[in-house]
Amino acid sequence: MNQPEVKNYINGEFCRNGQPSLDVISPLTGEKISTLPMSGMKELDQAVTAAKNAFPSWSSLTLKERIQVFFKYRNLLEKNIDELSNLVQLENGKTYSESRAEVEKSIELCEFAVSMPQIITNEIQEVSRGVECRIERKPIGVVACITPFNFPNMVPHWTVPNALVLGNTVIIKPSEMVPLSVMRMAELLEEAGLPKGVFNIVNGGKEIVEAICDHEGIEAVSFVGSTKVAKIVYKRASNSLKRCVALGGAKNHLLVLPDAHVQMTANNVVASMSGCAGQRCMAAAVMVGVDQVQHIIDQMIIEAKKIVPGENLGSVISKEAKERIEGYITEAEQQGAKILVDGRGATVSGKEGGYYVGPTIIDYVTKDMSVATEEIFGPVISIIRAKNLDEAIQIENHSNYGNAAAVFTQNGGLAKRVMEKASAGMIGVNIGVPVPREPFSFGGWNESKFGVGDITGRSSIEFWTQNKKTTTKWNPEDKTNWMS
Ligand code: NAD
Repeated sequence: MNQPEVKNYINGEFCRNGQPSLDVISPLTGEKISTLPMSGMKELDQAVTAAKNAFPSWSSLTLKERIQVFFKYRNLLEKNIDELSNLVQLENGKTYSESRAEVEKSIELCEFAVSMPQIITNEIQEVSRGVECRIERKPIGVVACITPFNFPNMVPHWTVPNALVLGNTVIIKPSEMVPLSVMRMAELLEEAGLPKGVFNIVNGGKEIVEAICDHEGIEAVSFVGSTKVAKIVYKRASNSLKRCVALGGAKNHLLVLPDAHVQMTANNVVASMSGCAGQRCMAAAVMVGVDQVQHIIDQMIIEAKKIVPGENLGSVISKEAKERIEGYITEAEQQGAKILVDGRGATVSGKEGGYYVGPTIIDYVTKDMSVATEEIFGPVISIIRAKNLDEAIQIENHSNYGNAAAVFTQNGGLAKRVMEKASAGMIGVNIGVPVPREPFSFGGWNESKFGVGDITGRSSIEFWTQNKKTTTKWNPEDKTNWMS
């Protein structure tokens, strides 16, 4: 165990009070690196009370006052970027450069949050002589954020900075598999001057998530994770009359046309499916090869073979994840698909206990195979062959998910057709991981997202605030018809 034990963070204090404990395992080596408390209702109640008590003074600060904390915090992220990147790598298993890119993205997310005074100018209009209407955005109160394992640093920054600068107080429940980055986030927020009780952490699993959904003191819940749990959280939080946005899983389709630039396409498709060991909700999962694309597949094989576990490819999160991913590959092989590059059985010398899967390319996948429809969440791409673009679009549209889709071509007209017809929230043209940057918003369609609006960028402002509409009349002429 080379990390401090994980603690809850409630009312500005790190605390652990004899709750049952769960081991935190580094997937790089399979070794125990810490333990975390599996909290219960008592700890959640304490966090809600702290956040409720902190709300009146925090929400009454001006926006400009609140963002000062995030200017300092953003600089602390930058100052500590090496240490934070190492921590992401240790608990999640991705490579150092991927971990660093993740923390850099968190910095960008803070830059968006501190720009909020430039974005929120509210609205005012003289609607009738002497009568004015104004709309102001007000915070909602105590809000909760539930996060997954795959971006231990970045996904908490999708929600926490925006929710806080807009005047809410926050409780976060990080993934029990990667709780260390969020604990470090609390330390740095405290160093940046965030008042006690404004940001709280309650560690735990399913029980805490359910308690958050039911708790009367919590007004809104954001969730990022699998579709199975997103559905549970969205239904349960809505049932207890909270606003909720719940982002789920993905099965992203890349449509590759024969005229696509060969090297650029091969690089992009392989990087998209294998980056972060395929554990990105924006990862390429299905390549739909339209007509004659063998020359591009041949180049993809060359590129995939340059990716080596333990060197430029990290681990997957757990032993179960490795077994699940390898199980999908074996099932596809038994059903008649052809494994062009096989990542099963990968090991890394000196890290034999780690959970590694090499890049895998599966060809001649048919539409109904599980590798074509289910989220594998590993460095695996399934190639489905389509006769023409219409058939390729139909295959993409058939998916229950709808996070991202991309097209690779040099023909603008065909690219435009995919932009219009793909059933996904985020579209790429010659880009394998089309993540919208701030101030554009992140969010999918279909079973990749439940709720209104997106989770980042401008669209998130609506989620973290409520509008107050005020009509004023200071015109002393009482005969004036205010409708005139
Ligand atoms: P997960 O759904 O297993 O866990 C997410 C959170 O829910 C965790 O905090 C976990 O403790 C909690 N949880 C797990 N099971 C629960 C249950 N039965 N009831 C209540 N709470 C429960 O997801 P994960 O494995 O941590 O993350 C990977 C998934 O997240 C993938 O499906 C990936 O596509 C998705 N993801 C989606 C996006 C997006 O933007 N759409 C972003 C990142 C990850």
